Amino acid sequence: MTDSAYDLVVIGGGPGGYVAAIRAAQLGMKVACVEKRETLGGTCLNVGCIPSKALLRSSELYAEARHGLDEHGVKLGSVTLDLSAMLARKDKVVSDLTTGIAFLFKKNKIDHIAGTGAIESAGESTNAVNVTGADGSSTRLATKNILIATGSESTPLPGVDVDEKQIVSSTGALALSKVPKHMVVIGGGYIGLEMASVWGRLGAEITCVEFLDRITPGMDGEVSKNFQRILKKQGMTFKLGTKVTAAKKSRSGVTLSVEPAKGGKAEQIKCDVVLVAVGRRPYTDGLGLDAIGVNTDERGVIQIDGGFQTNVPGIYAIGDCVPGPMLAHKAEDEGVVCAEIIAGQSGHINYDAIPGIVYTWPEVASVGKTEEQLKDAGIAYKAGKFPFTANSRARASGETDGFVKILADATTDAVLGAHIIGPDAGSLIHEIVTILEFGGSAEDVARTCHGHPTFNEAVKEAALAVDGRPIHM
Ligand code: FAD
Ligand code: NAD
Repeated sequence: MTDSAYDLVVIGGGPGGYVAAIRAAQLGMKVACVEKRETLGGTCLNVGCIPSKALLRSSELYAEARHGLDEHGVKLGSVTLDLSAMLARKDKVVSDLTTGIAFLFKKNKIDHIAGTGAIESAGESTNAVNVTGADGSSTRLATKNILIATGSESTPLPGVDVDEKQIVSSTGALALSKVPKHMVVIGGGYIGLEMASVWGRLGAEITCVEFLDRITPGMDGEVSKNFQRILKKQGMTFKLGTKVTAAKKSRSGVTLSVEPAKGGKAEQIKCDVVLVAVGRRPYTDGLGLDAIGVNTDERGVIQIDGGFQTNVPGIYAIGDCVPGPMLAHKAEDEGVVCAEIIAGQSGHINYDAIPGIVYTWPEVASVGKTEEQLKDAGIAYKAGKFPFTANSRARASGETDGFVKILADATTDAVLGAHIIGPDAGSLIHEIVTILEFGGSAEDVARTCHGHPTFNEAVKEAALAVDGRPIHM
């Protein structure tokens, strides 16, 4: 047993934890970060954002080479798939980036402690984390402050047990050794639709089974509807308002029993791979939260105050294990602000200005309020919409699916939300994220000069449409 004294011990080296550790070190704190995975970067870098985007890009190139270049007059011979090369590239992207975090830790003199952390004691000046190494060794880290950034894990679906071969979570879906003939995706959310896009582009038949009567439930309804129509056009089959009641595995595949969510006639779907993507839940196993009395809700979400402090003094929490959207950039921003608050500075996060992006093609991006939320809250708003079919760059690129929608306060014209489905939506949305941060109006966007020809001009036109004066429509 060894003893060391830190200003901050971070448990979890994901985007929340590693960013908090770096910011705290920049502010002069002595910092350790405990991570039980072999590499830093958490879910996001190892088995989440990064490997999924690597495969989305590779599969997009494959699909384009197979079907998308003829109209441009580019003729290719036969295009073949080398899946193991595609997966190896993805693994290299991941290892380059996780090694990069280890380098940043060295640069910022952060101690990377490999092992599983548990909070041993808590209270004024007696905070300590015990770390159990893979070899069973134990290290005690005495510290003024503890930051829990242990992230989340896939929510299991009773009766559909994940074996990461035939029935997979997102982790298994990032490493399938061959393209399934038929893949059933349970859950029409972020993971389900991104991974369905990857394997669909590589040749799998895709059926998406969604419990609710729409996909991407938190999103603006008009965008969701349009999104589903486009994905259907790309070949995906949707079974909405449907629940899976059982999964039976055999050597040749999996048979799922499904029935209408509201009850009704059951049917069976045969496939070779099932992806369970019905959400994620906070991961706090083994931390010892009960013993030290940290409050969580009934779903295990750690409860914090406006400064990320739990009910136990000196213990903070951020990222996927606290309330709010489970997104890497939200975890990162919380990491920065939390470190600044621990250092005695002030800070806050505008949770109304956190973008959400689905990296399918076309991309879907949103920020702020949806039309449904504004209606529910009784807020009078104006909506301005502009389709990519009327945007010259989209025409030139042959990427005309989708639209930009901007929602602004009916009286003040302040932008309240934006919803984009279309080419590069994930980049375009940041124009509105900035406007929201600065409390700007639709007129501010409309009066800002936009380069021509760009997809961004559709954002300007949607802002003009808020006042009923788009030029190109
Ligand atoms: P995590 O990244 O989960 O990191 C927590 C870390 O803590 C883990 O490495 C874990 O091993 C470690 N840990 C847990 N308990 C202990 C312990 N007791 N001791 C030591 N270490 C411990 N978000 C986006 O914004 N954009 C995307 O494109 C995106 N794509 C995704 C794709 C997939 C397939 C998945 C699954 C998620 C995706 N996400 C995406 C979500 C994103 O990964 C998470 O929101 C983000 O990783 C949360 O960061 P975090 O630091 O809170 O937790
Ligand atoms: P999700 O919440 O995005 O989607 C889950 C879907 O499953 C929902 O549509 C829900 O209605 C449905 N569902 C729930 N129970 C069901 C059941 N029994 N049968 C059928 N459908 C059911 O969750 P996810 O796709 O698992 O992703 C988890 C989180 O990871 C996301 O919320 C997101 O925060 C994050 N993520 C983000 C990105 C990104 O930013 N591009 C990508 C992947 C994951």
